[in-house]
Amino acid sequence: MKDRFSDWTRLALDDALLPRADALAMLGDVDMDVLRLAAAAGDVRMAHFGRKVKVHQINNIKNGLCPEDCGYCAQSKVSDAPLKRYPTKDEEAILQEAREAKQRGVYRYCMVASGRAPTPREATQLARILSRIRDEVGIRTCLSVGLVDDQTARLFKEAGLDRLNHNLNTSRCHTDKIVSTHTYQDRLDTLLAAKRAGLESCSGMITGMGESDADIVDVAYELRGLEVPSIPVNFLIPIAGNPLYDFNQLSPLRCLRILCMFRFVNPRAEIRIAGGREGHLRGLQSLALYPANSLFVDGYLATRGDEKLKVYKMIEDAGFEIDGECSEPQTQTAAERYQIDDNRNIMNPKTAVVAESS
Ligand code: SF4
Repeated sequence: MKDRFSDWTRLALDDALLPRADALAMLGDVDMDVLRLAAAAGDVRMAHFGRKVKVHQINNIKNGLCPEDCGYCAQSKVSDAPLKRYPTKDEEAILQEAREAKQRGVYRYCMVASGRAPTPREATQLARILSRIRDEVGIRTCLSVGLVDDQTARLFKEAGLDRLNHNLNTSRCHTDKIVSTHTYQDRLDTLLAAKRAGLESCSGMITGMGESDADIVDVAYELRGLEVPSIPVNFLIPIAGNPLYDFNQLSPLRCLRILCMFRFVNPRAEIRIAGGREGHLRGLQSLALYPANSLFVDGYLATRGDEKLKVYKMIEDAGFEIDGECSEPQTQTAAERYQIDDNRNIMNPKTAVVAESS
């Protein structure tokens, strides 16, 4: 056991393929010291990214109204979650949100639209928005709009898009347990279209949906084979009303193991702690920055997350630094640091004396 961690670090630093049995052990070996695993994954992360953390922010530019039946998604036709549904946002509003994201030091502005695939009209509108963001704002962009073919991928590339997101979500074997209206191959084809168009791809998975360790490892190796440079790792958020609700599979340590395994299989990829970070990693969030070098601020598609100043503080407290310029005020008063917001948090001396003498 003693040498296993350093062997894995050496393999990853050599860009050598981690044996599949070792990837499975990272998830399932109950005797493994997970903190040592995280430290070893941290060595790989430091070699490629130093102490930098890329902060991403999602903008839901179109919400709900989706004809697909992804069981984990509050926007799907099979979800009863009370979701605010709206068509594609106004172009000026999207531009303004991109400007604000840049001012806040956000590394990449991620636009997400619900739906199976963009219509030709929607694709043209998105291309116009992308070119305006490139010319008028100058922030890195990522777009997630469902299935994309070669023609649409080329249109987005020409409009200045940097990255196209399309998550594999789960393994080929497990896909029909979570969705029936499209296939794993449909998702793979979108990533291949992005690659042919010269777009960077972003693709990851959602864990905690009843999958096995082998399913998670399958996705990590598939993404390596596709040379995906950006991998969001989501942890299923239990949203009441969704068919896939809670498999009770995730603990903070298991989430940490999963992130470490992704780091060792994809040593040079941007590994992002994505949806479910707060609720599933809980007190291990800052430790997760050892395998991961990227995260979201200000929430996800259907749920709130920690607001940015709290996340920035967590990053700084753990000895990491935000990648990019951050114009948010970083100086806080002592009361703000200790989160004393009213007198309820201050012990009343008289009460304390009474308590001692009783
Ligand atoms: S994940 Fe995308 S395609 Fe699936 S239901 Fe949600 S919005 Fe629709």
